[in-house]
Amino acid sequence: MPISGCTTITYCLDRNDLITHVNSAWADFALANDAPDIARRVVGTDLWRHLSGEEVIAFYHDLMAHVRRTGQVFSLPFRCDAADVRRQMRLTIEPLHEGGLFFESRTLSEIPRRALHLFDTTVPRTEEVAPLCVMCQRLQNGDWRDADQYASRMGWTVRSNTPKVTHRVCERCQSLSPAARAVSMIPKIPLFERS
Ligand SMILES: [Zn+2]
Repeated sequence: MPISGCTTITYCLDRNDLITHVNSAWADFALANDAPDIARRVVGTDLWRHLSGEEVIAFYHDLMAHVRRTGQVFSLPFRCDAADVRRQMRLTIEPLHEGGLFFESRTLSEIPRRALHLFDTTVPRTEEVAPLCVMCQRLQNGDWRDADQYASRMGWTVRSNTPKVTHRVCERCQSLSPAARAVSMIPKIPLFERS
């Protein structure tokens, strides 16, 4: 069952990127999004164990290094969909003493949708691979496309056709990183793309 709006999940890292604290909403959020393995015993683990994909890791490295280097808060929008809801959120990273970091992910809005098997971690996968941007939740096939539209076109609305997902960060979302912002204009990202 998806969380309701206005939920805010938080966690803290120490200077070595070990998770030192998660709030109760964080565990609830992981459970609601079919990730009970993450919710258990997460405190004391390394953040990087919970991220996958070369671009995703590089993106987070960039964000965290920027906040630690400048001592300034950094914030950016992202999508965190579940199977039956499109969810717009905002990530804010604040510096803490001695190199620690405070992460806050606040839910801004949710739109229910017909369940998309691609975002249901309990659904078996075919050998096909679907690159997914972890920040905007679009899928790549040449261009980056809205997940609902692309899944429908590819026949992935049929449960037995559900492909594996690999985590990426698309070029548009990479342009939101502090390093990219330093050299270019910030593009506007719509809350939800519509057909
Ligand atoms: Zn993206």
